[in-house]
Amino acid sequence: MAHARSASLPTLQTFQKQRLKRSSEIDINPALSHSLRSMPEQSNDYQVAVFGAAAVGKSSLVMRFIKGTFKETYDPTIQDTYEKLINCNNNVCKLQITDTTGTHPFPAMVRLSIVQGSAFVLVYSITSKQSLADLMPIYEQIKSTKKSFPDVPIILVGNKCDETSRSVPSKEGECVARSWNCPFIETSAKNNHNVRELFQKLLEQEKGRIMTLDPNTKQKKSKGKKRREKLQACCTIL
Ligand code: GDP
Ligand code: MG
Repeated sequence: MAHARSASLPTLQTFQKQRLKRSSEIDINPALSHSLRSMPEQSNDYQVAVFGAAAVGKSSLVMRFIKGTFKETYDPTIQDTYEKLINCNNNVCKLQITDTTGTHPFPAMVRLSIVQGSAFVLVYSITSKQSLADLMPIYEQIKSTKKSFPDVPIILVGNKCDETSRSVPSKEGECVARSWNCPFIETSAKNNHNVRELFQKLLEQEKGRIMTLDPNTKQKKSKGKKRREKLQACCTIL
């Protein structure tokens, strides 16, 4: 089973090199990450971090969503960020997705991804009970880091639902999601099942802004807003 394969741990140097590939990313100095912990998110981009144990299919879900592709081979991720244009309050904005490493060799990186993240995708594999258990500490860390944002969007994802060797019944995933008060979805990056839906569901939870995956969607005006605009037009004529 792919999940059982363990990734060799990268050195800090390799890790930093990977991170610096993208100019938009910031340094991973632990002291800096510590001081950032209390800073509010300042970018207009919407940052999503994907967490989960190694080999649950985090990279595959991100690749399927961003590029529409899927690879059978396992390539352990260090950490990378991908971008996609979406619609936010009727404006085009950037969705930045950080595909994290599942092995968490650098706790400072995890902290930084949580501090910078506006929303979180927590992935396990339906073929591994352990991978669901592995999400508990990360969930706790997100909630405690974001305690001033109690409505922080989170989605629990049971990936590899195409597999026949299921170890986690859907009900178990649903139950955990209920206790976290967040949505739950089963996906297959392999068969492109529910991948777009997972990101749509995540964005729907955002209370501060209206977001859709199609960058060019125009939000429909509410009846109340239309009526107010009509009245304003009449007043101007009078
Ligand atoms: P990550 O470590 O969580 O990023 O996992 P990867 O995305 O690298 O995937 C690990 C392995 O699981 C790879 O061999 C993938 O081909 C496989 N995989 C990922 N998603 C699925 C899926 O939905 N179904 C199946 N059957 N295999 C998957
Ligand atoms: Mg990966």
